[in-house]
Amino acid sequence: MGKPTGFLLYERQEPPKRPVADRVHDYQEIELRLPVPQLEVQAARCMDCGVPFCHSFGCPVQNLIPDWNDMVYRKQWRKALDLLHLTNNLPEVTGRVCPAPCEAACTLAINQKPVAIRPIALQIIERGWERGWVQPEPAPVKTGKKVAIIGSGPTGLAAAQQLARRGHEVVVFEKADRLGGILRYGIPDFKLEKWVIDRRIEQMRSEGVVFETRVEAGSDVSVRYLRRTFDAILLAAGARTPRDLKVPGRELDGIHFAMRFLTQQNRRNAGDTVPAEEAISAAGKNVVVIGGGDTGADCIGTARRQGARDIVQIELLPEPPAERPADNPWPTWPRTLRSSSSHEEGCKRLWSIGTREFVGDVLLVQHVLRHLDARRRGKVGIADGDAPLDDLALQFIGRARVMSKSTHDPLPCRRAAHIACAARAAPHESSMRQGTHPNPVRLGAARNSSRFVTPIMLSGPFLARLGLNLTDDARHIATGFLFGLGQQEEARFIHAHL
Ligand SMILES: Cc1cc2nc3c(=O)[nH]c(=O)nc-3n(C[C@H](O)[C@H](O)[C@H](O)COP(=O)(O)OP(=O)(O)OC[C@H]3O[C@@H](n4cnc5c(N)ncnc54)[C@H](O)[C@@H]3O)c2cc1C
Ligand code: SF4
Repeated sequence: MGKPTGFLLYERQEPPKRPVADRVHDYQEIELRLPVPQLEVQAARCMDCGVPFCHSFGCPVQNLIPDWNDMVYRKQWRKALDLLHLTNNLPEVTGRVCPAPCEAACTLAINQKPVAIRPIALQIIERGWERGWVQPEPAPVKTGKKVAIIGSGPTGLAAAQQLARRGHEVVVFEKADRLGGILRYGIPDFKLEKWVIDRRIEQMRSEGVVFETRVEAGSDVSVRYLRRTFDAILLAAGARTPRDLKVPGRELDGIHFAMRFLTQQNRRNAGDTVPAEEAISAAGKNVVVIGGGDTGADCIGTARRQGARDIVQIELLPEPPAERPADNPWPTWPRTLRSSSSHEEGCKRLWSIGTREFVGDVLLVQHVLRHLDARRRGKVGIADGDAPLDDLALQFIGRARVMSKSTHDPLPCRRAAHIACAARAAPHESSMRQGTHPNPVRLGAARNSSRFVTPIMLSGPFLARLGLNLTDDARHIATGFLFGLGQQEEARFIHAHL
């Protein structure tokens, strides 16, 4: 602990953001950096708790947070970087876009503002890049074993780097034209500029990772080929099945899934031309974003930059409270009202609104009364009146076909954003192609190290084809959280069995 009284002396400082009037005219990153001396003061607020809840409860990848806070306070940035890399292959990504459950679980958050963990992590890694401390680390000895990784999202990238550094020959197959999964196509550039991904990929190429883009495993390369050629296969293909809203009028023009909308803008920013017949633009439109979560917020920020006239975001749930309710105590994830940078840029938010029907250029919605129990679950109640909204509706609610272990309900995309299987044999071709796994059966012991890593159910036949033993191997099947960085564990599993 650098300064025992730091948390008493210093207030939390947020990294500055670019002014709204300036940033809505481009897609460059919004957040700026705190000057280094100020950040070292922020690190001094860390109490180096005996039980660091940030690390053990909050962080899904168990970052060594108190240790690198201490190193930053002592100006030992290089050591801080080494500690950060021990648990995280893409800290420049999590440092930018992680929702920071570590901060929610920080002991200081009991009665004051938490340590600024995410900005400290980001500065550690960015200083590392600036100073040339982040260099390729090719394996000194090759094992002669080959691993295929299907998908180049954060899961695939993190696992590829781990495995290549252990001496395996790694080939990443990616069906898209560029690497990065949702980091590349999905997350807006104003949250994550894409050179950040390219920089890490260059390092990985120098470490020997081979990337094959525009290659769809299961069709461009067959499962037979993969089985024959590789000693292990890691399925890191994400989950892209959007959740549709099956209400009358859904087939009308102007209603789009968020990922199509967001991806098109990522492509334009990268210099691609989107064919006119496919192009979705919010320019001059009144936009309705259905769903009040983070992907919805990304749509708001993108629509704003495209020149939307007016933006309304509707959410089925009631407005969350400003403070933690009694049933949602520290250190659990706070179910409180959060506003993103996109909301700051202008948008009307409506709560307890269900979608009833799309009629021409009007969206009929209903006010919903929900009788919520302590866990904010409840029944949808009364409809009361219609609200006309015109021109364009962005329908974004997405989910993978992953089921909650306890309720057997489908989990929303944000909690079950991908499925990754550390597999010793090849996955079922059609499951791979569709990115879904039908006929779910329960798996007993999927990893559940924090509330964000949810036990999952996968298809029994699918797993049987993978050659996985449902009881013993279940713990090696992880739901993705955030950026799949937990895949270090999957990489270790593969390495241990090669
Ligand atoms: C719009 C949006 C915004 C988000 N913002 C945040 C955020 O701010 N913070 C946060 O923590 N999380 C965020 N998330 C969640 C996060 O992006 C995901 O959890 C994460 O990307 C999952 O990583 P992944 O590698 O498992 O899958 P993906 O990123 O989906 O990557 C899977 C890759 O596999 C490829 N693929 C699929 N099938 C095949 C095949 N057969 N052959 C070859 N390649 C294949 C796909 O093309 C894709 O590139 C966001 C998600 C969305 C949709
Ligand atoms: S919980 Fe907060 S104060 Fe305690 S070690 Fe973690 S960052 Fe530091």
